[in-house]
Amino acid sequence: MAESAEQLRCTRDSHALERLQDDSVPTETSVEQKKVESCVGAIFNMFKKQPNQPLVLERDIHAHYLRKGLQHLSDAYECLDASRPWLCYWIVHSLSLLSEPIPETVASNVCQFLAHCQDKNGGFAGAPGQEPHLAPTYAAVNALCSIGTEEAFEVINREKLQEFLYSLKQPDGSFNMHLGGEVDVRSAYCAASVASLTNISTPDLFDGTAEWIARCQNWEGGIGGVPGMEAHGGYTFCGLAALVILNRVQLLDLKSMLRWVSFRQTRYEGGFQGRCNKLVDGCYSFWQAALMPLIHRSLHAEGDPALSLTNWMFDQQALQEYILLCCQCPTGGLLDKPGKSRDFYHTCYCLSGLSIAQHFGGGDLLHEVIVGRQSNRLNPTHPVYNIGPDRVARAIMHFRQKEVPEMAKSKKD
Ligand SMILES: [Zn+2]
Repeated sequence: MAESAEQLRCTRDSHALERLQDDSVPTETSVEQKKVESCVGAIFNMFKKQPNQPLVLERDIHAHYLRKGLQHLSDAYECLDASRPWLCYWIVHSLSLLSEPIPETVASNVCQFLAHCQDKNGGFAGAPGQEPHLAPTYAAVNALCSIGTEEAFEVINREKLQEFLYSLKQPDGSFNMHLGGEVDVRSAYCAASVASLTNISTPDLFDGTAEWIARCQNWEGGIGGVPGMEAHGGYTFCGLAALVILNRVQLLDLKSMLRWVSFRQTRYEGGFQGRCNKLVDGCYSFWQAALMPLIHRSLHAEGDPALSLTNWMFDQQALQEYILLCCQCPTGGLLDKPGKSRDFYHTCYCLSGLSIAQHFGGGDLLHEVIVGRQSNRLNPTHPVYNIGPDRVARAIMHFRQKEVPEMAKSKKD
């Protein structure tokens, strides 16, 4: 453990200058930001008044909330009827970060459910009988690889999945999210992620994709949804992670991206915002913070001599404090910011971001930074795929034994 959490909180909270200065010109944005700062500040101060209380990740209640969600969801989740593989992924991955085993029968049920979501023409839909779509395809493949059993791997119809990806490929290198659907950086990442995990990638499947993604990096340094759009944490993660997979990171201006993402860590709250001038949100603990290992490794590969050998290039302690103090729901699950409701999406990405902030390098024990109790330690996550690095390795080893399908390619030709 580095410094004690108590020291860190005192240091940060004593700097009033870290709070927003609006120069007495309030705007809608500055009013909202001040509200969040005062709410977060009250939580920091309340915690400081109890010096003997350790900073605790409430593992057991989060695990209980997650396990329950795998079996039963409340009416509130009706609106996510087209995102059911996502719910499987968010929960399965969160449990794996917490080292909470999933009973064999439950894991098998998840595999069977995802098999029902798979379309006969390839790809996975948001629910059985719906149209296949790249986002639930990504979530389903990640959930299955995270489960990592033979049964899970066998669910994926690789030949059809490859055909599905070819059917979405556009002449400029981008991908539709679904047939006739929108194009943005998410689809390139989802396609590259599932293709690389399941060994169905071919050079012409991603011909032009890296160049198209690079066009989405704008003057801010981050990546927008499509060329010319505002830089955004989710799209920046998708774009960079896709280029890491495609081994074409050199197309980006990494220093400019590093500058952009560094400034997205909020000075007072310690968490990340998704875009310039937006409010802190727990889910960006992953989307933004996971950029740091990806940028760090890419700069390292270029031989940058100025890189730290012990830390990522953001305040890892401050992010952990924000998540632990401001994003835990007392009845289990994690959330965006104080006052918001818990949900499985924020639970997954708050925990994933916490894991990134705790681990430096490839799970190097010497350089762990665990704020609060040692029992707060989560398992590491792979910053490209956001499942355990061991699960990524197992999936790649498994599918490497199989041939890359050629059928879809010859059909297309
Ligand atoms: Zn969020």
